[in-house]
Amino acid sequence: MSINVLFAAKAERWATYEPTLKQAFGELGLDVNLRTEIPPEDVDYIVYAPNSDLQDFIPFTRTKAVLGLWAGVEDVVGNQTLIQPFARMVDEGLTRGMVEWVTGHVLRHHLGMDIHILGQDGLWRDHVPPLATDRSVTILGLGALGQACAEALAFLGFTVTGWSRSAKEVPGVTCLSGNDRLAEALSGAEIVVLLLPSTPQTENTLNADTLALLAPGAVVINPGRGPLIDDEALLSAVNTGQVGHATLDVFRVEPLPPEHPYWSHPNVTVTPHIASETRPLSASRVIAENVRRGEAGEDFINLVDRKLGY
Ligand code: NDP
Repeated sequence: MSINVLFAAKAERWATYEPTLKQAFGELGLDVNLRTEIPPEDVDYIVYAPNSDLQDFIPFTRTKAVLGLWAGVEDVVGNQTLIQPFARMVDEGLTRGMVEWVTGHVLRHHLGMDIHILGQDGLWRDHVPPLATDRSVTILGLGALGQACAEALAFLGFTVTGWSRSAKEVPGVTCLSGNDRLAEALSGAEIVVLLLPSTPQTENTLNADTLALLAPGAVVINPGRGPLIDDEALLSAVNTGQVGHATLDVFRVEPLPPEHPYWSHPNVTVTPHIASETRPLSASRVIAENVRRGEAGEDFINLVDRKLGY
């Protein structure tokens, strides 16, 4: 009998994901009936984007797992009707995109590229940037994305420190963990990259106190989530020069309202939540692997811990 998989995401995603999901199920030899509408009581798995219309999971009585298409889960973990196992997306394509975005923005600031890109004015500015070994970068969050970025930056030679909740080991990276090591992770950092999930524990991780620990003129790069930063404290730090530049991809309110001071600040770069995204084929393979596991009675991968909120 076919496995009934409901695709619950915005309608425009269907055209992209229908062929890649079918390909991925086929690659694993799974006989799947993939639809955007199936009676809830007949659904075996749900492929899910948190901004879809589906918010009540109670009627899905035989559903074995809800398989998220997004890495961030803050809009889902609090849903009390979601009693089924819930897996988030850890996608090789998404990770590679994030590594490219983070290294690109780190290198922009490390090399001082703006001076030359914006300064084509006849002045011979012959300042040679330091080597990466002389630049300290701290990555907050050493999960799927933070770890990959830390490895890439360490490979380029940066002096990389990473910080996470539980202890980690990443080759070439100084790994610190727990709240009592945060100050150590941030002290003297010249570039900080935020790749934490948005949870009650991570809100305002960068605030007036923690921003003051950074090296004067430090760069803040946030592709994680808006609530990780106290916006007023950051604006104040950018105004005093304690933070030399902030590159922000994510915000408490998205799209960021046109009148928000971040847009007009000369030392803030706003990008519209494009750091990376789930790539359809590689993500579809992750979904298919979880369906295979569910059918084989194996443990699902990438399950969200609802108590931790990520
Ligand atoms: P993971 O869950 O794999 O990693 C999260 C990391 O944060 C882990 O190292 C975890 O520690 C750490 N962490 C969580 N809570 C705390 C805490 N209280 N104190 C210290 N460390 C903590 O997530 P991903 O790497 O896959 O993704 C990270 C975030 O990136 C996502 O939650 C999402 O918000 C954002 N994102 C942004 C995108 C964009 O385009 N801008 C695209 C995709 C994701 P531990 O290892 O001990 O569990």
